[in-house]
Amino acid sequence: MKRALFSILGAMLLLSLYAQPSQEEKDPLLLEVKPAKLTPLKKDAFQWLENNMPEFSKISEKIWEFAEVAMEEYESAELLASYLEKKGFKVERGVAGMPTAFVAVYGSGEPIIGILAEYDALPTLSQKRLSHKEPVEEGEPGHGCGHNIFGTASTAAAVAMKEVMEKRGLSGTVKLFGCPAEETVVGKVFMARDGVFDDLSCCIQWHPSTENNVSLGSSNALNQFEVEFFGKTAHSAGDPWHGRSALDAIELTNVGLNYLREHLKPTARIHYVILDGGGAPNVVPDYARAWYYVRDIDRESVDKDYKRVLKIIEAASMMTETTYKIKFISGVHEMVSNRPGSEVVYSNLLLVGPPPFTEEEQTFAKEIQKNLGVEEKGLKTEIEPFKLPQRSWGSGSSDVAEVSWLTPTTSLGVAYKPIGTPGHHWGAVACGGMSIGHKSMMIAAKVMAASGLDFLAHPEIVKKMRVEWKKKKKGKEYKSPLPADLKPPIKAKSKK
Ligand SMILES: [Zn+2]
Repeated sequence: MKRALFSILGAMLLLSLYAQPSQEEKDPLLLEVKPAKLTPLKKDAFQWLENNMPEFSKISEKIWEFAEVAMEEYESAELLASYLEKKGFKVERGVAGMPTAFVAVYGSGEPIIGILAEYDALPTLSQKRLSHKEPVEEGEPGHGCGHNIFGTASTAAAVAMKEVMEKRGLSGTVKLFGCPAEETVVGKVFMARDGVFDDLSCCIQWHPSTENNVSLGSSNALNQFEVEFFGKTAHSAGDPWHGRSALDAIELTNVGLNYLREHLKPTARIHYVILDGGGAPNVVPDYARAWYYVRDIDRESVDKDYKRVLKIIEAASMMTETTYKIKFISGVHEMVSNRPGSEVVYSNLLLVGPPPFTEEEQTFAKEIQKNLGVEEKGLKTEIEPFKLPQRSWGSGSSDVAEVSWLTPTTSLGVAYKPIGTPGHHWGAVACGGMSIGHKSMMIAAKVMAASGLDFLAHPEIVKKMRVEWKKKKKGKEYKSPLPADLKPPIKAKSKK
């Protein structure tokens, strides 16, 4: 009897271990959102965007060809700014002390809807529109993060909104922000410090992606800075006692940091590279320089971690009898997501649908994947489910986070990069410079214009967005992570 009972219990245990979750079981993080309705306003916007698609494709290809890196986006910024001007926007160039930053405004009064545009390329990623690696010019920059379609789609969305506002007599303001130097996490930080985003009711932005999605996730707060150590040179064998090694100071800093890791919260991330470590082993280096990132879950944690990092640098200089200088480059907050606003963007993504890639475009994407040794799945043609994030913090850092502390900000991702290809990669450069990129750009422009029109026509949505935003900020006011006297790292126009 006892034995029978045990075997029944055993069978039940086995069954429960191997039981598959039923098809009905729902993901607790999943959020239900229905597709938005195709209103006459949106119909107008979509029609206008489709009619003007060839011009936007041309603009995005030009920016792709300019391939200007952070703070050198002179041609790219001017192309977008002059287009907006031609379309009736009032453009202010050189905002926040950066020649390649601009703000283009149309309309008046509230709500004031912001749209973010980026256009910087990445060093060394030059690539032809081919499915195998082949640079246009070896070592030159390329658009490895799709910012050529980013900036153009945002501009297209802003002008589409303006056309509809004009035609239908809608009141309110659209502001397109030309944001330079995203890749160095710089542009929007200086714009935010200068109060450029202060009057917004809400803000829309997107990023070219592997997926078609609207994220409610966050990102890491960050401080990035360089340290220079100054020592005394000497012959490494002849009279090393006269030398004070700047490289030793960097090495001891790094040893200290690597011990510090154990006593930081698991969310902290510290990384570094040595930019200058001396010239030859037989000369004691009197100069050395390294670049550090300190990231964590939120601004307060980064501030705390950073204080301890500074102590280690100070200690390393004492140990080596060297002096040092810290050059603060930039800092950002963690991203504050906005659920009511994101729901609107997601409903419009469902309305517009994913990019309609052709068989030919899928084959091109699969060739890239083959050359990379990743699964040949092509480009994403589904929309990701709308979900609450699994954890409340992120991994990467973005200067969009600064905007999200100043106004409710929504994010959107549209596919243009083959599944499984890494970020900042030649494969992404190729796709962003051709029809694949144009299609992604058009979807992004439609979703952003439709969402912007929803925000303009329904002040109650913006009100809801602002209520949640205030709640999430927990009474904290935005304080720039930048030292008050820090100037933007302006670069001269490069000669090509
Ligand atoms: Zn990017």
